[in-house]
Amino acid sequence: MAEYIMNKKKKILNGLVYVLVFVLIFSSIVFAGRFKSFGKFMFGVEQKTFDIRQNIIKGTKTPNKDIVIIAIDDPSYEYVLDNFGSWPISRGFWAHLINSLEQVNPKFIVFDLLFTKRMTSNDMGDEKLIEAVKNNQNVYLSMNFDNYPYQIRKPPMLPQELQTKVKNSKIIEKSSVLNFSNCRKIMDELQAVTTKIGSINVTRDEDGITRYMSPVFYYNDGFYGNLSLLVGLDYLGLNDKELVINKNNELVLDNKHKIPLSPNGRAIINWYGEEQTFEHIGLWQVDRAIKNGDVKFLKEKFENKIIYIGTTVTALADIKSTPMSYVFPGVEIHANFLNNILDNNFIKHCKYGVDFLISVILSALVAFIIIKIDTVIFALTFCMLLIGLYLFATVFAMQYFNLWLGIVMPLSSVFLTLIGSYIVKYLLKSKDYEQTYKLAVTDGLTELYNHRYFQEQMIMNVGNVARYGGAFSLILIDIDFFKKFNDKYGHQSGDAVLRQVAQTIKKNIRQSDIPCRYGGEEMSIILPNTKKADATIAAKKIWSAVRERKFELADGNKTNVTISVGVASMPVDGENPQMLIEYADKCLYKAKQNGRDMVVDEI
Ligand code: GH3
Ligand code: MG
Ligand code: MG
Repeated sequence: MAEYIMNKKKKILNGLVYVLVFVLIFSSIVFAGRFKSFGKFMFGVEQKTFDIRQNIIKGTKTPNKDIVIIAIDDPSYEYVLDNFGSWPISRGFWAHLINSLEQVNPKFIVFDLLFTKRMTSNDMGDEKLIEAVKNNQNVYLSMNFDNYPYQIRKPPMLPQELQTKVKNSKIIEKSSVLNFSNCRKIMDELQAVTTKIGSINVTRDEDGITRYMSPVFYYNDGFYGNLSLLVGLDYLGLNDKELVINKNNELVLDNKHKIPLSPNGRAIINWYGEEQTFEHIGLWQVDRAIKNGDVKFLKEKFENKIIYIGTTVTALADIKSTPMSYVFPGVEIHANFLNNILDNNFIKHCKYGVDFLISVILSALVAFIIIKIDTVIFALTFCMLLIGLYLFATVFAMQYFNLWLGIVMPLSSVFLTLIGSYIVKYLLKSKDYEQTYKLAVTDGLTELYNHRYFQEQMIMNVGNVARYGGAFSLILIDIDFFKKFNDKYGHQSGDAVLRQVAQTIKKNIRQSDIPCRYGGEEMSIILPNTKKADATIAAKKIWSAVRERKFELADGNKTNVTISVGVASMPVDGENPQMLIEYADKCLYKAKQNGRDMVVDEI
C-alpha cells in the first residue's frame, strides 16, 4: 500500500517536472518572438515554407481560361524597335490596337502600362488614344502610387469618381504599406474620359519577394482600388458597390467573394503557376494579325476574353520575384490576382492563437511519445512520423482550404520539446538509479549500510592502506544479552532498540566513517584514515552514549541497554579483511568474557 502511494506520488512529481519543462519551452518561444529581429527571422522562414507549399500545389489549380495576356515580350520588343524605332511607341498604336480588338468583342482590355505625360508624336497619337478609350468603356488604365517628395512631383488631386468606397476601412487607413503621399496619375485628358483607372502597385516582402497584393490603397483621404480589383468587380457586376471589411478582416465583394486581409490590409496571393500561367500572345503576333486582317485569329484568341496588356521583357524592368519564380512579369501577377478574385481562392493565414494551439498539441504528443516509448529509435521514428503527418496536413490545408497553417512555430516547439523531454527523462532516470543504488546497499531495519557494502568497503580500505600507507580501523559492536531482551520485551521492542542503537552510532561518528549492520544485533564501523588510539576513543564515545541513553520500547516504556565493543586496526592488527575482522571479533569475545559492557582493543 505504502509503495503504491509512493509510486503515485512519484508519478505526479515526474509529471510536474514535464509540465514545468513544457511551460518553460513555450514561454521561451513566445518570449523570443517578442524580439523584433528574431520574430522577423522566424517569419521570414515561415514565408519560405509558404513558397515551398505553393510550389508543391501549383499544378493542382486551374487558371481561368478567359484571362489572356498580350505580352510585350522579347521578340515583340525587337519587333517594336524595328518597326517604330523606339519604346515607348506612339499612343496611336495603342488606339489602333484597342479599336481592332474591340471588333472581336473582348470582355475587357486592361493596360498594365502607364500613360502619364503627353507624348509628342506626328500621328496625333494621344488624341487617338483618348478617343478610343472614350468610345470603349471596357478599357482599364493604370496609375501608380508612391511616396516621392512633393519637390519632385506635386501630389496630384484625383477626381472623386476614381475612388472606391470602403466601409470599416480602419485596417487600410492604419496600414503602414497602403498609405501613399504621392501618385503617378495618367494624363488629364485621358482621366477626363474614363473612371476605369486602377492602381498597379506591387509590394515586396523583406526578402524582395512579392507574396501579397493590396486590393485597396489609401491616398489623399480617399480609397482607390487595385486595377485587378476594379476589373474583378466589373466582371462580377459589382461596379460602384460599397465594399465592407467584416469582423474577420475580409474585404467583402458579395456573398461569395471575400478577400481575406493580412493585418496590414493586403491579400495573400494564391499562385497558379510560373511565368506563363495564362496564355501569352506576343504583341508582334497581334500586330501581324491586325495588319493581315486575320479576324479569325483575333476572334479565337480574344473574343469574350479579359485581355491584360503588359511587358514581360526583362529589358523593360517590370519583372518581380515571386514564390513561383525570380523573374515574374508584373502583368502576370495582376492576372493571377484577378483570377484569385474571380475564383475566391486567396490564401488565408491562420491566427496566431491557432498556430500556438497546434504547437501545444504537437509538443504534448511528442512529449507523450518520448515518455511512453523507451526505445529511442522507435520514439524518434514516431516523432518524425508525427511531424511528417503535420507537414502533409499543412500542404493539404493549403491545397483544399486555402489555409496557411504555421510550420515554424509548431516545428521549433516540437524540436525543443524533443530535446527537453529527453533531458528530463534521463535526469529522472539517473535519479532513479541513485535511489535503487541506495536501496541496494542499505539495511532496511537500521538504515545502516548492509553486510555486502561492509565487505566491499573493507576490501577498499585494506587496499588503500596497503598501497598508500596510513591506517584504518574497524569497530565491532554486539548488544549484550539481547536474546534475553527479546524474550523479556518481545521482538518488536528488540527491533526498536536496534534502530535506536544504530541512530546513536550514526550520531557519534564522523561523516567519513561507514556504519554497517554486520548481522543480527551486531554492528560494525569502518573508520578510514584512523589509527588504533583514535578508533578506541571513538568506540568509547559510542559505548558511553549507548550506556547513557534511554531506549524506548514498543509499549512506550524506556530501558537501558549496554554494548560490548571490539576494535582492530590496520596495519597493527592485520593486513587483510579476514585478519582484521577476526581480531575485532576476538576483542569482542574478550569483552563478553570479562563481563560485557566495555570496549576492548587488545587480545
Ligand atoms: P551476548 O551477546 O551478550 O552474549 O548475549 P546475546 O543474547 O546477545 O547473545 P547472541 O549474540 O548470541 O544473541 C543474539 C540475539 O539477538 C539473537 C536474537 O534473538 C537477537 N536478534 C538478532 N537479530 C535480531 C533482529 O533483527 N531483531 C531482534 N529483535 N532481535 C534480533
Ligand atoms: Mg551476537
Ligand atoms: Mg549479543
